[in-house]
Amino acid sequence: MSRTEYAERIASETDANWHAQPLEHLYEALDSSPDGVSDEEASTRLERAGPNEVKAESGISPLQILIDQYKPALIWVLLVAAAVMAFVGHWIDAGVIAGVVVFITIFGFLQDYRAERSIQALEDMSTRYAVVRRGGEKKEIDARKVVPGDIVFVESGDIVPADARLIEESNLSVDEAALTGESAGVSKSVGEVNTDVALAERKNMLYKDTVVQRGSGIALVVETGPQSEIGQIATALEEAEDRDTPFQAEMDRLGKLIAVGVVVIVSIIGITELVVGDTPPLQVFLTAVGIAVSAVPEGLPAVVTLSLALGARRMAEQNALVRRLPIVEALGSVDVICTDKTGTLTEEEMTVTRIAANRETYEVTGSGYDTEGEFRLDDDPVETDRIAEVLRCGLLCNNVDIGTRERDGSDEHGDTERTYLGDPTEIALFVAAQKAGFEHDELDAEYPRIGEVDFTSARKRMTTVHETPDGEPIAYMKGAPETVLERCDNELVDGEVVELTGDRRDEIEAQQESFAEDALRVMGFAYRPDVPEDLADSPDESLEDSMVFLGLQGMLDPSRPEVPDAIAGCLDAGINVVMITGDNAVTARAIGEEVGLRSSTVITGPELEEMSDDALSDAVDDVDIFARTAPDHKTRILQMLQAKGHTVAMTGDGVNDAPAVKNADVGVAMGIRGTDVTEQASDIVLLDDNFATIRDAVKGGRRIFDNVRKFVNYLLSGNGGEVTMIFTGTLAGLGLVITPIQVLWINVVTDGIPALSMGVDPPAEDIMEREPRPPDEGVITKRIVTSVIGIAAFMTICLLPIFTLNYYGDVIPGYDVTGSLLGWRPGYEPSRELAQTMVFTGFVVFEIVRIQAIRFRYGLGLFSNFWLVGAVALAGVLQLLVLYTPTGQLLFDVEPLSLVHWLQIGVAATVFASLMALFVVLQDRYFDRY
Ligand code: ADP
Ligand code: MG
Repeated sequence: MSRTEYAERIASETDANWHAQPLEHLYEALDSSPDGVSDEEASTRLERAGPNEVKAESGISPLQILIDQYKPALIWVLLVAAAVMAFVGHWIDAGVIAGVVVFITIFGFLQDYRAERSIQALEDMSTRYAVVRRGGEKKEIDARKVVPGDIVFVESGDIVPADARLIEESNLSVDEAALTGESAGVSKSVGEVNTDVALAERKNMLYKDTVVQRGSGIALVVETGPQSEIGQIATALEEAEDRDTPFQAEMDRLGKLIAVGVVVIVSIIGITELVVGDTPPLQVFLTAVGIAVSAVPEGLPAVVTLSLALGARRMAEQNALVRRLPIVEALGSVDVICTDKTGTLTEEEMTVTRIAANRETYEVTGSGYDTEGEFRLDDDPVETDRIAEVLRCGLLCNNVDIGTRERDGSDEHGDTERTYLGDPTEIALFVAAQKAGFEHDELDAEYPRIGEVDFTSARKRMTTVHETPDGEPIAYMKGAPETVLERCDNELVDGEVVELTGDRRDEIEAQQESFAEDALRVMGFAYRPDVPEDLADSPDESLEDSMVFLGLQGMLDPSRPEVPDAIAGCLDAGINVVMITGDNAVTARAIGEEVGLRSSTVITGPELEEMSDDALSDAVDDVDIFARTAPDHKTRILQMLQAKGHTVAMTGDGVNDAPAVKNADVGVAMGIRGTDVTEQASDIVLLDDNFATIRDAVKGGRRIFDNVRKFVNYLLSGNGGEVTMIFTGTLAGLGLVITPIQVLWINVVTDGIPALSMGVDPPAEDIMEREPRPPDEGVITKRIVTSVIGIAAFMTICLLPIFTLNYYGDVIPGYDVTGSLLGWRPGYEPSRELAQTMVFTGFVVFEIVRIQAIRFRYGLGLFSNFWLVGAVALAGVLQLLVLYTPTGQLLFDVEPLSLVHWLQIGVAATVFASLMALFVVLQDRYFDRY
């Protein structure tokens, strides 16, 4: 039966009132059961119903991209130039300029289109997962493969994968703002609702793309993809995102500035010449056009787009998924990284290695999630009956499931591996109990769960209620030791419930410290035998009273081996690393020392709460560890750091981390461990959850920034040189020293191609040794402005004599411009064409020198970028084709140069290079390095 047929069947019978039907009715209509559909059935349904995604009109249409190409003022400068050329009857030139405009727009279109596509591809890469039950087995699948009839599991932080009817629920509350615009949480409950209630009141329904705020639930999928409520109003998903990066905004401003500059210069020349000069109007026109095209850095927009897109792709290959392109620029300014401990600095594959119970301390062997291992007391293997209660508590008060997960990167249905599904802390407890021979399913059947008081990061504990084989309710609690202890009056010793004295509390405290000093994460366990009936039925926090303390389990969460290096790298790069964790101060400090944080000064959450803003502001620069924090502390720490002018990258995984991640300058989400909501709030997703990836992302950001700055510098100084040269030539009465077409050729081809390849230059050697860039420093610095002015002057100083020499021919007594000096190709006459060809070729050569000069400053040698070598070679060959082929000569109005001309250019280039070198020495005295 196809999806539409289902819908029709339901519609005819029930008018698709999914919320108003008895559940059995829906199972029947959707041909499903509490076990879900089978895998094969799901594949068939997927094929028929299509993927569970809402194809919102995201992204920009190709037409819009094309139209956007005509937005920059610079293009219009060129179009006007072409019109002027046509007006004065220079048809070839008009044609060539128009051709160049077409070329630029097509090229720009292709770049933008590719960039757009790779942004889309990046978006597609951030796959969302859904946990479903199929054929009775729980598994984690790509959320796009959810089909009607699936049984889905949701919990806080999840984005609901599809419209679904609730089957079971615990404390469930959902933010349905995506659908209703109302962001207050809606609490959900199982049961039937009247037919004619508004969407917002259908408490037994979950809707696709709404966010689970609290609790958990199990639901039967009724509609997916476009058929879902959100799918029917597809536009709701569209995030009104600003895709312009600060670079692009800066380039836009630059473009406008240049356009204004062109108008001003052209007017000055025009008016002067027409009023006082005796130049024919035609010549004035030509000069105006020449200046216009020479001032415009035609290649710039495409190069910026390309380097951003390629840079982001490269970062994705290194596991840092850039969700918002503009963030690349901020990355280079990051000077504080606030990171989670668990899972980011550590592996988060936890193993219980020590257990304290019955006033004894046991060692547990084994590694990772492997269930092989034994329990030892004073180095001797022992039976586990004396610690059975604490292990049982760890297994019962536990939400881990055994299930399957789709193998990464597999499109195949059923290509799965068996794993534990759930929180690694709980998996560790699960595994420890298995080592002692407990089986989850058996225990679960023996002690069925009848209630739960949820874990939250603020509470730092959770409690579950079970029914004993005798039919009595019993509660099990686990959590951070101090939060557990504060609820305990008694403890269990040798099977007896005895009073928990003050001394014993101190002992347990000391025991916890000793575990924590060895970098163990410590959890406390307790139970309550005499649970009142009413609390068992509707558990709340008062359930967690008069508990009986059972013991501690300490688990090892080894730090990731690559982290110490990454942190050292960050510190070298002027970036401080701050750990913010919910774990206790001693464990946090032990891990901090292991990974090499700058200091081990700790502030705990409770201390933080006592501190005034002023006190915190004073302290925040020196504190590298915040322990026992609640999620809202992150926001406060962030605000303090930002108020002090820091650019902060902040990681987060839980639901409550979303605000801090959103407000950080660079919000970092965890691809594996993170919740959907945090991911949505983030700028970058770490696909491997690894701290080292943040360092790589910062490096990637700095590299992209460097490259943009390099080619902006390169292109602007080239254009500056051309304008100055033409302007000076005109003022000196030499007429047009280079033709507009030649200038265009330089800008688009012999400059443009190398500039493009500079977009993929490798990082400078010292890229992670310099201080972060001040956040208000744009691409164009004072140093670059002086460079542009200086280079423009040098180019003019070096090329003007060459023009004069070949235009007049007899300025130097005895110099033979005919080129017969070495007997090769005699017969040159001094002429404007020859002189223009010299200037034209001179520019091409100078630019090649210039590109290396810029790159040398970044420690990049000639051959460090394969593409650049090719680009420069290509530019050279093309220039030779222009000079020495009949077509080239016709189109560009050039003379084939002889050896003597090349010698002149060589000398000029040497002088140019020397001037540049001297200038750099001068600049170094007044400016920063870049
Ligand atoms: P972190 O995982 O960085 O320690 P959390 O906010 O997730 O921070 O947890 C805070 C504390 O709550 C943990 O240090 C631990 O003592 C306790 N805790 C963590 N997970 C659980 C859980 N599933 N059940 C009970 N307590 C927990
Ligand atoms: Mg945690």
